[in-house]
Amino acid sequence: LRGVIALDGPSGTGKSTVARRLADALGAGYLDTGAMYRAVTLAVLRSGVATDDDEAVLSIAENVDLKVSTDPNHQETLLGGENVGAEIRGQAVTLAVSAVSAVAGVRALLVARQMRIIAEVCETRGGIVVEGRDIGTAVAPDAALKVFLTASADARALRRSLQDNASGREVSIDDTRKDVDRRDRLDSGRTTSPMQPADDAVWLDTTELDLQGVLDEILALVAE
Ligand code: C5P
Repeated sequence: LRGVIALDGPSGTGKSTVARRLADALGAGYLDTGAMYRAVTLAVLRSGVATDDDEAVLSIAENVDLKVSTDPNHQETLLGGENVGAEIRGQAVTLAVSAVSAVAGVRALLVARQMRIIAEVCETRGGIVVEGRDIGTAVAPDAALKVFLTASADARALRRSLQDNASGREVSIDDTRKDVDRRDRLDSGRTTSPMQPADDAVWLDTTELDLQGVLDEILALVAE
């Protein structure tokens, strides 16, 4: 792969798994931008500042020691050297992350970092698959390919809860559905780079597709 593939869309569309597998298949790097917002959120929660105190939240984000790996087969999120990969998927972070990622200063900071990481990986590996909510619109508007993944609300809640159960978290499907809906509303409604498909994004509805089906569709787009 040469350049960037931008994968955007709401949670539960299978984005992360698809992005990692795609990067692996193409010998490319992989960047999970959601993990960065989640890690900053964890730092905010640990510091005890209120998630609606924009200034305090930004100051935590500015001082956070955050490292993310870009190897699709070895994902690691380090906060002050500690691997927080599991904790950032937990309920506390999931509940607070949309508020933290709506802070304009936090977005500016992380988008700039994401752009640097993308440039570096493109230099060393040639290409990168980047997943998030605003990759095609804000982080990599010049991406070679932009895909916006969607799926029905039921399919997304079901996938999310299968993932939670596989990770040992007991969350009812009703609660999962409420959380998925709530985050989509907040992520789409914020004023700074809300989740939205780029004008030149290809829409891919994954409701009726399994993982291989989604991969095949995207690989066909790459080959075009
Ligand atoms: O993708 P994931 O569910 O891990 O993302 C967690 C949260 O991070 C999203 O609900 C959203 O609030 C935020 N996010 C964002 N922009 C991105 C990626 C994630 O605002 N590019």
